[in-house]
Amino acid sequence: MDSTTVYDKYNWDSIDYEHLKGKISKVLEWIPKDVKTIVDIGCGNGVITNILGDKYEVTGIDRSEVPLQSVNTRKLAASADDIPLPDKSSDLVFSSELLEHLDDRMLAGTVAEMKRLTKKYIFITVPNDENPDKLSIQCPDCKYIYNSPNHLRSFKKEDFANLFKDYTILKSSVDGKKVRYYNPALLNLKKRLTPASSWIPEYWMEKSKRKTVCPHCEHEFVNPFRFNLFAMSFDVLNVIMSPKKPCWLFVLMEKKS
Ligand SMILES: [Zn+2]
Repeated sequence: MDSTTVYDKYNWDSIDYEHLKGKISKVLEWIPKDVKTIVDIGCGNGVITNILGDKYEVTGIDRSEVPLQSVNTRKLAASADDIPLPDKSSDLVFSSELLEHLDDRMLAGTVAEMKRLTKKYIFITVPNDENPDKLSIQCPDCKYIYNSPNHLRSFKKEDFANLFKDYTILKSSVDGKKVRYYNPALLNLKKRLTPASSWIPEYWMEKSKRKTVCPHCEHEFVNPFRFNLFAMSFDVLNVIMSPKKPCWLFVLMEKKS
């Protein structure tokens, strides 16, 4: 299955300035004073990229031409693990909500490209220590179970110390709306014992984000919700067991000299 097709069909309009303005102001505040050039890897529809472009010389990279149409800086369609730009192309490599979508091989390749392309800084934002399986849905056609926002992994600050051993973490913080973690063992039980239509309650996900494309069979559908008392009991139990955490993790790193 060509996953690019599914990616192209992503509901890009659901990523807009309103959802990201808190993040954007933090990003602008954190970019070091000596930065003039930025490569933005996984820039999507350019909501952040275009704003960075007002102040910096920016190149947006995304694997799909579809969202790139809305990017108004210099741009390139390329896979994050194979970017046709020379070594040390920019003062800072930026990436927002990309790494959580990558499998092990892509993550290793992308981290290597980030290190190759930057002269000095790497600035990353990812979801903060989430349990991605919380947003599991099941395709009504082929019954394939997948994570709605296609998050494959989750990060804590310590993960960046390991992935970027040759870098110093200058700054890191968590920010944004507080979202409740879901206990993994409890979530496994819920998924095993309750119908898939009850997994994501209405108040967890806005209507605009319920439209989805199955990565297995490419069936497009609106993820339904049907109330189930048993599923709700798991959610109530989880409220007691799991804390709420700010949804974003920001990490700014500098290459060790
Ligand atoms: Zn399917």
